[in-house]
Amino acid sequence: MNAMPEGGGPRKPARCPICGKPAEAGNRPFCSPRCKDLDLGRWLDGRYAIPTEEAPGEPPPVTDRDEQE
Ligand SMILES: [Zn+2]
Repeated sequence: MNAMPEGGGPRKPARCPICGKPAEAGNRPFCSPRCKDLDLGRWLDGRYAIPTEEAPGEPPPVTDRDEQE
């Protein structure tokens, strides 16, 4: 039998792969939501080409502002 130790082994101090700070519970393996976001952004940017849902060539909607002076 090859039982994997679950939670029984020594705890490894997880470190944030982004900045190297100790990971925080809830944000593991990152230290903060910011680093989590950073890593996710890098990951997405590197592996996925995010398709733009906007139709190319179409100008953005311009709101007619009636400014009075
Ligand atoms: Zn970090």
